[in-house]
Amino acid sequence: MKSYKTLADIQRDLSTGSVSCIDLVDLYLGRIEAQPHLNLFIEVFADEARQRAQLIDQKLAEGTAGKLAGLVIGIKDVLCYQGHGLTASSRMLEGFDSMFTGTAVQRLLDEDAIIIGRQNCDEFAMGSSNENSHYGPARNPVDPDRVPGGSSGASAAAVAAGMCHASLGSDTGGSVRQPAAFCGTVGLKPTYGRISRWGLIAYASSFDQIGPLTQSVEDAALLLSVMAGPDGHDQTAASESVEAYETKLSISPKKIGYLKEAWEHPSLSPEIRAQLDTSIAKLEAEGHEVVPVEFELLEYVVPCYYLLTTAEASSNLARYDGVRYGHRSESAQDLSETYLASRNEGFGQEVKRRILLGTFVLSAGYYDAYYTQAMKTRRLLRDGIYKLFQSCDALLLPTTPSTAFRIGEKSEDPIEMYLSDIYTVLANLTGVPAISVPFGTDSQGLPIGVQFMGRPFEESTILGLGQQLAQS
Ligand code: GLN
Repeated sequence: MKSYKTLADIQRDLSTGSVSCIDLVDLYLGRIEAQPHLNLFIEVFADEARQRAQLIDQKLAEGTAGKLAGLVIGIKDVLCYQGHGLTASSRMLEGFDSMFTGTAVQRLLDEDAIIIGRQNCDEFAMGSSNENSHYGPARNPVDPDRVPGGSSGASAAAVAAGMCHASLGSDTGGSVRQPAAFCGTVGLKPTYGRISRWGLIAYASSFDQIGPLTQSVEDAALLLSVMAGPDGHDQTAASESVEAYETKLSISPKKIGYLKEAWEHPSLSPEIRAQLDTSIAKLEAEGHEVVPVEFELLEYVVPCYYLLTTAEASSNLARYDGVRYGHRSESAQDLSETYLASRNEGFGQEVKRRILLGTFVLSAGYYDAYYTQAMKTRRLLRDGIYKLFQSCDALLLPTTPSTAFRIGEKSEDPIEMYLSDIYTVLANLTGVPAISVPFGTDSQGLPIGVQFMGRPFEESTILGLGQQLAQS
């Protein structure tokens, strides 16, 4: 069967009858089955996806199908889908079934998307390599000895390996964009609040956003249009009007700033820097003005992100105590032992590290020195980025300092792993939208991602720029 880059291509063939939803589902199921070593799906909803495909083929024949008919999508194992398992790749939630469907997932279903399964990820979305999973690491289809990125690593990898047309991930500090860059797909983190978080397992609530992983910018735009908008279940879901983003991809010339500090950063691989220079030349050739801008606070973004997200995580994850939720230890004799042993057995090493760190930065003696200071820094970062947006329509950055690294290469050194998030966490700290688009490969054939950040709720601009770059 031919390979489809966009849902529009699929829908054209669906309308002529040269392909059906059931053909598509069978194709993806076959690929999932053929590549178990990549470890991308925790659970495949094979029978259900086939049944739904038949139903949607019928709707297509009757002319009643929704906007996403023909879309076969995988969901990261942090998104609620009623009656289906949900574990956040943690032993803590083994055996748990969602009691309701989250808003973003429901909006996809309402437009006739087919959900093919739930995908491996870092435990509770904490990680940059998908190695922190109770179900074992996911592998990068481009080179299975390498990580697919994280935390939505398997979601990006499944798209790259053709096991689904698109995936839904979550991005707290880069978890959609960084795996997209490592696997060669598009990854979009919308403005904070653009998509409801209802039904997304919380990691750090003031940072978390759901976002699509796709093969084309056009599909990312379409999925955003379907999922975005206010929601009575989530007070932080924004009421700004939702555009038909997929129809606004051709844009007028823009002024784009590139962060000098990012270019000059010692951690940035020279091959990625060279690709970024090529991207600037391409954007200029399209008529955009690209100028260097200064952002002296770049060194503060990683510490600020890890102080605040671990603080939020320590509070969000307090609910998993073996009583209200989650794994309950069989060895415990009384209440406090139940808490201790259940949490000790249920959580993995990285999650424990972050709960400890977050509890420490919130503790009475250290609150001002760490949490308050980090909150002040977050404000400065936001002010600094907003100031850049007074003169620039978008900012250009690398998505990652390196291409996909080897499994095990960074897992012994959490600080080194954290530092690799330097270019992605800024968008979450400041709430602005950002997209990573694939742009060439390095000398080993590993994909490189280029990132655009935009003004709040101006997803159209970064989608348009991403589309131009992807097509150039
Ligand atoms: N890599 C980052 C972290 O480990 C981002 C995770 C995410 O966006 N969920 O926290």
